[in-house]
Amino acid sequence: MIDKEKIKKAIRMILEAIGEDPEREGLRETPQRVADMYEELLEGYYREDEYIQFTERSDLVVVGPIRFYSLCEHHLLPFFGYVYAAYLPKGKVVGISKIVKVIHKYARRLQIQERMTEQIAEELQKLTGSHDVMVIVRSRHMCLEMRGVKAQSVVTTAALRGEFMKDTALRSEVLTYFAKEASQL
Ligand code: ZN
Repeated sequence: MIDKEKIKKAIRMILEAIGEDPEREGLRETPQRVADMYEELLEGYYREDEYIQFTERSDLVVVGPIRFYSLCEHHLLPFFGYVYAAYLPKGKVVGISKIVKVIHKYARRLQIQERMTEQIAEELQKLTGSHDVMVIVRSRHMCLEMRGVKAQSVVTTAALRGEFMKDTALRSEVLTYFAKEASQL
């Protein structure tokens, strides 16, 4: 588990370094609140879910958009958006809630979007027992919008495995589903 006492001390130091008074009323509970918040936002490190698989017949499963929130590891600022996933089942179809859990497991830790996309694809391969997996992540990064270039930007990353890499017709079919479901970020 994360060391909340250490986070509290660190946040208090940051408040002092900024020139704030950590004892003033509005800030007194802030180190505790931030420690609780990080415990929640970074719980992905400690998730070890048991996945239950069940069998159902389907040629292609397409899921999304699934909302996620993460923290960039370079600035500790949020990036958030949607994950879209597709796979070709090999005899078993997994519940949507399992896929959502995989996404949260990798979103709720310090991340970069590219790695998160790869990790979700890899875990979906394990979960579904299928090599043929496609994951697309579209997100907005607060470290690009609030600081640095200060421009609203949508970052899209994709992981293509197996048939989704080889078969361009299959890929465009899935992309049309995703386009239909595309959400405002
Ligand atoms: Zn960043």
